[in-house]
Formats: sequence, structure tokens, C-alpha cells
Amino acid sequence: MSKIEDFLTIEQEQAIIKAIEIAEKNTSGEIRVHIENNTNSPPLERALEVFHLLEMEKTELRNGVLFYMAIESRKFAILGDEGIHTKVTENFWDAEKELMLSYFKKGEFSKGLELAIIEVGNKLKENFPYHSTDTDELSNEISSG
Ligand code: CA
Ligand code: CA
Repeated sequence: MSKIEDFLTIEQEQAIIKAIEIAEKNTSGEIRVHIENNTNSPPLERALEVFHLLEMEKTELRNGVLFYMAIESRKFAILGDEGIHTKVTENFWDAEKELMLSYFKKGEFSKGLELAIIEVGNKLKENFPYHSTDTDELSNEISSG
């Protein structure tokens, strides 16, 4: 098991959680971040496993989005549940991955994550606007494995 402190400073972790909170104030969609050291699997495949481990398919509107990262393997993926996936094009996910990669290349993991979380939040907002009965269906805390 690796710990979040191995990857992010407390400040960076808080900034990412804050970005999730801000995003989720505008949408019923749910964003989670999962960080681990290594994976032998293709990142999207592993992201799907993690998605189910975290029970992210249990949102009412199937609008959970997982940011998955394997730091040492230098792999990452963004996975949206079917509710959001059917609303966006493949280009959207690719553009977000490009955005993240441009920061990751500079070693700015938390910054890249934050910016992509904000953009995904905006996309969720377009398709799943916040409504007064919204609950926090999935924890905003970063998980690690
Ligand atoms: Ca919610
Ligand atoms: Ca949440």
C-alpha cells in the first residue's frame, strides 16, 4: 500500500480536494481521484477496476468521473461512467489528458489534476446541473492503493 503523502504534499492534496468540492457545487456529477504507485495493466483497464472497487457506478445518474494515476508507471486515465460518457466525445477526454500531460511533464501533478478537475466539472455542469436535492454521493477524499 502506498500513501497519498508519498505523492502529494498536504497543501497539494487539499488543493485537489478543494477543486473537487468546487466542481461538485455546480453539478450532481461526482469526481474522484485515485493514486497508486504501479500498475501492469493498461491505465484505462486499471481505472475501470478501481472505478468498481470504489463503487463509483453507484451514482443515481451514472455520472461519476475517476481520475486514475499510477505515478511510477507514469500512467494515467480519466474514466467517466455511462451517464457522462454518452454526453461527451472521445475528443473531450483526450483534450483533458493532454492538459494533464502538459503539466505532468513538468512534474506538476497536482496542478494538472486540479485544472482537469475544473474542466471536467464544467462539462458535468453542462450535462448534469446541480439541483437542490443533490447529495455528496462519493467521497471527495483522494484514495490510494
Ligand atoms: Ca453530488
Ligand atoms: Ca463527491
